[in-house]
Amino acid sequence: MNIASMSLTTKQQLYEFWKQSRTVTNENALSAFLQVSREQFVQPNARKLAYQDHPLPVGYGQTISQPTTVMLMIELLEVEEGHKVLEIGAGSGYNAAILSKLANFVYTLEYIPELAAFAQNNIHDAGIVNVQVIQQDGKQGYEKAAPYKRIIVTAAASVVPEKLLGQLAEDGIMVVPVGKPYGCEMLKIHRSGDEFKTSRHGMFSFVPLV
Ligand code: SAH
Repeated sequence: MNIASMSLTTKQQLYEFWKQSRTVTNENALSAFLQVSREQFVQPNARKLAYQDHPLPVGYGQTISQPTTVMLMIELLEVEEGHKVLEIGAGSGYNAAILSKLANFVYTLEYIPELAAFAQNNIHDAGIVNVQVIQQDGKQGYEKAAPYKRIIVTAAASVVPEKLLGQLAEDGIMVVPVGKPYGCEMLKIHRSGDEFKTSRHGMFSFVPLV
């Protein structure tokens, strides 16, 4: 083993770090992380970097999000067994794969056809059957299966997409980064009936929601 490979973070190290630092406290989310192989969702030449805590390119100018960001968003989303979840921005399919271990069913939307196919293949190869990848503009949501208990947007939206608010269940939660790609604020929007309450959860960087 050379020094470069010794310095690579392992899946177990990331898990221990989140647990000990209490960055991630939701046991179900931590267990979901352990159940999914991130190396199956990155490009073949990046597999050895799969557990570095940073985003990685997946082609077409897009990235698979940083593991800590994925986990923080999933914690905010408060997914429960039995929930129907809508994700905007399938990318590699990794986030949807983690969500699939927590929810009943996940619909994930991706506008780039090649990435929709990439996500679909990765999810299939991981043996996951409760995720559907749909190639279309995520700002429109997916009316056919609405309403959703949870909606998660994994790209920076310039404003909260109106259509998505309409597809959120009456007691639903949406997590969405809003603002500029390099400097967007993580919002958690809680719907109760016709009321929407927003809380703020720090600044992040994401590829843009187009
Ligand atoms: N959740 C992904 C990472 C998301 S990167 C993962 O786990 O790998 C953001 C993704 O959103 C990119 O793949 C990008 O192509 C997609 N995207 C951007 N704007 C979109 C839109 N309007 N509709 C659907 N997908 C969009």
